[in-house]
Amino acid sequence: MNEAIATIKNTRRIQAQYDVHAKKAFGQNFIIEPKVVEKIADAAIASPNDLVIEVGPGIGALTQFLCEKSEHVVAFEIDERLPDILRAEIGSDHLEILLQDFLEADIDAEIRARRKPGQRVDFVSNLPYYITTPILFKLFEAREHPDTITVMLQKEVGERFLARHSDKAYNALSVITAYRCRVKKVMDVSRHVFMPKPNVDSMVIQFTFVDREPVADEDLFFEMVKACFAQRRKTLYNNLQAWLADKEAAKSMLEKSGLEPSVRAQELELEDFIRLYEENYETIR
Ligand code: SAM
Repeated sequence: MNEAIATIKNTRRIQAQYDVHAKKAFGQNFIIEPKVVEKIADAAIASPNDLVIEVGPGIGALTQFLCEKSEHVVAFEIDERLPDILRAEIGSDHLEILLQDFLEADIDAEIRARRKPGQRVDFVSNLPYYITTPILFKLFEAREHPDTITVMLQKEVGERFLARHSDKAYNALSVITAYRCRVKKVMDVSRHVFMPKPNVDSMVIQFTFVDREPVADEDLFFEMVKACFAQRRKTLYNNLQAWLADKEAAKSMLEKSGLEPSVRAQELELEDFIRLYEENYETIR
């Protein structure tokens, strides 16, 4: 591998040599600590045979390590100034660059076109923070979804995904994520290892998709979970009543699932929401 791109010296050199300055509108904060990118690449890639999808390679800090560890890295980048720099600086035939807005990409088709039979797909990104949620939901909803998703995101957002019931950060997103994936923290990352330095600290977390028997009509299940958290201070009974516009129906839902009327959504675990939904599916569908 060439000298690491992820240093202050090389980031400054690349920016000066190609006259590219970080664009705030694209959420560009480049990593300047090689140990951090190496650890992300190690956590993200299980085997050199894995197909790796990266969003936002930037000037290649992380991409360079990904190309060392996998034979096929597909990197989506929105900024047209960057592909030539990436090719010149990384110089690896493991790298395929797609100059495209990831949110516009047909992720199912892109994965289908490249995944070999039985091949694992690892998604990895130091996310552009302004579109963290749409990127993650796009992946959660994809049919050809990756096996694992390893992402750097704002610490506070990471905490929401890791939150367990009764934590302050626990919300509908935590429940929906738990339904789809197991989540674990890879590491905390200080704001000081980015250039330019953001105003917040970060965290790397990893989602692993779980094989679960799906509930009937997942969209309705997700709608119910969101409705249960609609007003955090209110009881589950109040929130269900507002969702169904029917007091008696809300009361009967709780009774059927053995839940007290005074309980709040944040006290329930995923399995409680599944039970609440399945016991009442015939009534609410
Ligand atoms: N991976 C590099 C690093 O770690 O130093 C750069 C990460 S930077 C936080 C986010 C990257 O995402 C930038 O390169 C930015 O141009 C790119 N980006 C922003 N919006 C994007 C989009 N919609 N589709 C693809 N890439 C995007």
